[in-house]
Amino acid sequence: YYLGQIEATASLNIYVEVYAAEALQRAREQDALYQADPSAVGRLHGMILSHKDVICYAGHGVQAGSRILEGFKSLFSATAVERLLAEGAIFIGRVNCDEFAMGSSNETSWFGPTRNAADPGRVPGGSSGGSAVAVQADTCLASLGSDTGGSVRQPASFCGVVGLKPTYARISRYGLLAYGSSFDQIGTLTHSVADAGLLLEIMAGPDEYDATVSHEPVEAYADCPAPGKPLRLAYYPEALEHPSIQPEVKAAAQGFMQQLEAAGHTVDPVAFGLLDYMIPAYYVLTTAEASSNLSRYDGIRYGYRSADAGDLLSTYKQSRAAGFGPEVKRRIMLGTFVLSAGYYDAYYTKAQRVRRLIKDRTDEIFADYDFILMPAAPTTAWPFGAKSEDPVEMYLADIFTVQANMVGAPAVCIPAGTDAAGLPIGMQLMGPKHSEAALLGLAKALH
Ligand code: GLN
Repeated sequence: YYLGQIEATASLNIYVEVYAAEALQRAREQDALYQADPSAVGRLHGMILSHKDVICYAGHGVQAGSRILEGFKSLFSATAVERLLAEGAIFIGRVNCDEFAMGSSNETSWFGPTRNAADPGRVPGGSSGGSAVAVQADTCLASLGSDTGGSVRQPASFCGVVGLKPTYARISRYGLLAYGSSFDQIGTLTHSVADAGLLLEIMAGPDEYDATVSHEPVEAYADCPAPGKPLRLAYYPEALEHPSIQPEVKAAAQGFMQQLEAAGHTVDPVAFGLLDYMIPAYYVLTTAEASSNLSRYDGIRYGYRSADAGDLLSTYKQSRAAGFGPEVKRRIMLGTFVLSAGYYDAYYTKAQRVRRLIKDRTDEIFADYDFILMPAAPTTAWPFGAKSEDPVEMYLADIFTVQANMVGAPAVCIPAGTDAAGLPIGMQLMGPKHSEAALLGLAKALH
């Protein structure tokens, strides 16, 4: 069924590679396993998944939507992938994304953009746009994405699916191609909140290959109960009044708040005060980390090497010049600049301080409130090209999602209606670190 769906939706440009024969073979093996002993199968028996092109699956290509990894094959699988396979999941293919997960529209991919199934003239969001459309267009049951500043939640919002970004370090980053290592986290795109919980429960927890992983107990995320008591939620009036917000998104947020109040919860306005610092600080810090992480792509060790290079230096220069696209180059240059000796304190150190302020202010809010409620994005999906000429305009699309990554908090985006053109709108709930069980319980009750 899903292979048929992939074929029928080829014009959306969702898959970079389809593992058709292998997926069928694995399905047959899973069938045989079940026939021999129904109790021997895993919790994901036969569940069809796809993975973003930044997550390693042994023996398969991984390219981060970039030319620079052309022809490269993973030598090992990400820990998250290993754990899902061990429970009987079947990967049907790897899906498109913005180059090195840098973007909010999928337009920076070397493979060309994925199209939004709700309107193929519009972007699917990014950077996990391929993952969001893979689920939206019913080409797999669920997809793995990664979220450094909103890359799971914003495309979920644009495509009308559920997007979960867990607490930083809840899931091992082993086998996830690094963008901003102190922000990156694997997340899920699913039809239901229950599926997000199930996948999280299986992927989460200590891993000897990633020393940063949280040792907090992994809870029964798959069946989180609805909240047993009235909750306190905060929203930021400055977000709903933000000049970039589309009126229908604001109206959807207000409707969502009424729904929460009708269910007995309290929803209060809270002045956050730091919203306008979010994007500048995020882009200074993530470009700094990216410039360091991407230095390994040198034309020698992985993938693409320029055929015109004559010596070592020209191999580096020409391979990187032809291998990376304009957005990745912009960020490497910006990151190198903010880390350079003369500017380090003015930009990098300052942005670290802003990150600390945002964290402290967020902690203060979570001392009084269970969750913070925000739209996942200020607008619905825009037409191709609308923001690609102006990078800052594109960066501002992340204004509501980066807080969770700045502080390492979990956040989930759930569908909340459509605008007048029928384009999906998503609402985001964010909780304190390791509050996934309660967060998913509430999200499930609302979805
Ligand atoms: N759009 C943001 C960026 O380009 C978020 C990307 C992400 O979460 N990977 O950095």
